[in-house]
Amino acid sequence: MSAETLGRTTRLELDDQALREWEAVVLDAGPDGIVLDRSAFYPGGGGQPPDHGVLLWQGVQTRIAGVRKGDDLVLIPAEGDPLPPAGIVVRGAVENERRTALMRTHSGLHLLCGVVFRDYGCLVTGGNMEPLSARMDFDLREVPPGFKQAVEDACNAEVDADRRIDTRTLPRAEAFEIPDIIRTATNLVPPEVQDVRIVDIVGLDTQADGGTHVGSTKQIGRITVAKVENKGRGFRRLRIKIAE
Ligand SMILES: [Zn+2]
Repeated sequence: MSAETLGRTTRLELDDQALREWEAVVLDAGPDGIVLDRSAFYPGGGGQPPDHGVLLWQGVQTRIAGVRKGDDLVLIPAEGDPLPPAGIVVRGAVENERRTALMRTHSGLHLLCGVVFRDYGCLVTGGNMEPLSARMDFDLREVPPGFKQAVEDACNAEVDADRRIDTRTLPRAEAFEIPDIIRTATNLVPPEVQDVRIVDIVGLDTQADGGTHVGSTKQIGRITVAKVENKGRGFRRLRIKIAE
């Protein structure tokens, strides 16, 4: 287990993706935001939007409407909510419904990426997600007949296969010996990053990734390929939906 930190904050959500509640000390609180010593709020990144949630302290609730990554991990309070004073202990809670939906969606995108690479050999060029809906862009010259349905069926076969989704952290040199990592992330991981977090849909897709994921493909749920859009020379955008 690595204790990942951002500025003065220990990030709890990367080692324990199921964690939704914890205690923390307020290091700073002001109009710019709140900094805790420990946080499980996913700050956003890799296409996964930040968490929402609350801080509870002395009978008061501070709603957290977003997170900003800077020198510190800064929690953005909802407008008008009271701020906890620095030095006190608060109880943090991540909004479960949104986070769990984002974890399922993020894992669903990795599954899609693995299926399209395995079956069509094409690389991802971009992507984005909201809870239970997402898009992913691929470099695919020709769209074969029946592509949309074939991708959807292959994705759901992988959901049914209930593959394990593992996360681990490797030293940079070791991580980049995994051939799949080079295809997806060599140019995305900044040179100063020494430890690379790996998300592995075992037997299907291995990527360097800093997001939060469900523990197995069955937990993603049914995947629908809603649309295949042609955005010009080899640029195909797939829109997917994840079942409620
Ligand atoms: Zn990812």
